[in-house]
Amino acid sequence: MSLAETRPSPSGLRYKRVLLKISGEALMGDGQYGIDTNVCERIAQEVLDAAAAGAEICLVIGGGNIFRGVQGAAKGMERASADYMGMLATVMNALAMQNAIEGLGGQARVLSAIPMVTVCEPYIRRRAMRHMEKGRIVIFAAGTGNPFFTTDTGAALRAAEMGCNALLKGTQVDGVYTADPKKDATATRYDKLSYHEVLARDLKVMDASAISLMRDNGIPIVVFSIGNRGGLADVLAGRGICTTITD
Ligand code: UDP
Repeated sequence: MSLAETRPSPSGLRYKRVLLKISGEALMGDGQYGIDTNVCERIAQEVLDAAAAGAEICLVIGGGNIFRGVQGAAKGMERASADYMGMLATVMNALAMQNAIEGLGGQARVLSAIPMVTVCEPYIRRRAMRHMEKGRIVIFAAGTGNPFFTTDTGAALRAAEMGCNALLKGTQVDGVYTADPKKDATATRYDKLSYHEVLARDLKVMDASAISLMRDNGIPIVVFSIGNRGGLADVLAGRGICTTITD
């Protein structure tokens, strides 16, 4: 167990500064593609509620609801070009989330690993730190800025750079299970796992590179359901249903 997890912060939160990673598919709602603005608004409210409780929150949103590099490569595109398209998809999701947060009265900044200065700010670590200190929600877009990576790895990288106390992975289920709970009624949820167990048993939590980066930096990964209302604030307070991955 890392120090970050055992010591509650002065605000009483188990994790004071966190990076929340959600997949692009989480923004689709019941749709098959694209962005459901109602879902964006609901997640934005979760984030603002958690921020109001004293947490410093930054976000990484995937792009799978719009485009994935491997899909383009499967259709004959050069993988690197397809991956750049995937990264652009994450910028669209980031802008949608910024819009939702601001619509609810919050302050959010999108910082892109691929500079596009007329659309959003370029990623500059110290600037991101400053935004967070001022209570703004920082949304990191365009993953790592490099093809052949995923937004999981981008999330782990930014969590380490920002000195986050945890990387929260918001999914459709409330943790890591022994089997897919939607297909197997006997599946049970793990309360805790080690980085090593996740890697050795190839549990599909996040990319192996993301998990290794978190292990090397002693940052816990917390898997929880982003679909449960109040789930984010509960996890931050240390009372939510989740699976925690540490040493
Ligand atoms: N991508 C990339 N480099 C990165 C992050 C993302 O090339 O650092 C591309 C890649 O093509 C990926 C797409 O962006 O398929 C969307 O990201 P991801 O698949 O991680 O989204 P999610 O599954 O979380 O929605």
